[in-house]
Amino acid sequence: MARAAGVRDLARRQLLDDIVAFLIDHELEISEANLAVVLGICSGSNIALAKKVTDRRAAGLPVTQAWLDEQSRGGEDSIGRIADKLERSLESFAATSRSARDTAAQYNSEMQVHVEKAGEAEEQEQIQTLTTLARAMLERTQHLEQEMHRSEREAAKLRSSLAKARRDADHDHLTGLPNRRAFEGLLEHHLRDAQKNLEPLSVALCDVDNFKRINDTHGHDTGDRVLQAVAKALAKITDDNCHVARHGGEEFVMLFRGDGKTEALQRLDEVREAFGERNFVNRRTDEPIGKITFSGGVADVFAYPSARDALKAADVALYAAKEQGRNRIVAAD
Ligand code: GH3
Ligand code: MG
Ligand code: MG
Repeated sequence: MARAAGVRDLARRQLLDDIVAFLIDHELEISEANLAVVLGICSGSNIALAKKVTDRRAAGLPVTQAWLDEQSRGGEDSIGRIADKLERSLESFAATSRSARDTAAQYNSEMQVHVEKAGEAEEQEQIQTLTTLARAMLERTQHLEQEMHRSEREAAKLRSSLAKARRDADHDHLTGLPNRRAFEGLLEHHLRDAQKNLEPLSVALCDVDNFKRINDTHGHDTGDRVLQAVAKALAKITDDNCHVARHGGEEFVMLFRGDGKTEALQRLDEVREAFGERNFVNRRTDEPIGKITFSGGVADVFAYPSARDALKAADVALYAAKEQGRNRIVAAD
């Protein structure tokens, strides 16, 4: 017994060590949500996620907080689940409509028999048969009506889940901004139009300065609120021709249609300057956070062979901004 308990303790200790190592290796916050997710990965109770982590590491990609959050959100009403529900709903709708058709056909043939025999029966008997037939038909149609109502309600629910899933699929849930995938679509669209109309187009990448320190000092939740504040500040200058999206983690990506890199830099620099003047306070503890700044890199899309190359150039410029001391926007060469 004692030996079995000893082995069990050892296994539990190993599991805890694995969880701690996972959190530290991937620089993840020690939060309730992360502990639950990492327990699932390390204990093997969430095989699907454990496999995704192995695949991601094998591909040399980092397991970040943003990636992990995205994975755990996948369990909600994903497009796949909605498609399953829709399929079941369509099956039930088909069954209802088949049943309606059968009911009508049966009623018709019973009526026909009745009409054919009408001459043979007494009037009283005819009325009796007709009443019975009508009552049976009424009952069946009432039942069908209820089924139709149920299908309609189900369809309305599915429609709204689908709309929500579509919104979720191209929006970042923390900041409400479009996500990277949606941004790619926006960029493609504006690139095509700008090319056709010979308009300038630039892209920018912004990254919060020393953000890890904010997380470490004030906690992940405060870090999240800071990201929301940065998102809001950047979103203020957006319109039909200027878009911002969450690129991932504490990085944001922007496009400026009609602006070359110099104009885009100027617009972004104004946001940077105003944002850097604010004094932040930790809402939960009233502790001062102080100034929060971000750096950025801007590039002219048409100076490069592709939009992807322009984004790379903006990233290099962002790196230069960090090297030069942060809290600045740098234009690509
Ligand atoms: P630098 O000025 O060089 O950019 O330094 P940094 O500390 O901002 O950069 P680093 O890449 O070292 O740290 C980024 C941190 O952002 C690490 C990661 O845990 C955190 N992070 C990524 N996504 C989220 C998120 O959604 N919420 C919070 N709170 N933190 C996040
Ligand atoms: Mg970063
Ligand atoms: Mg940063």
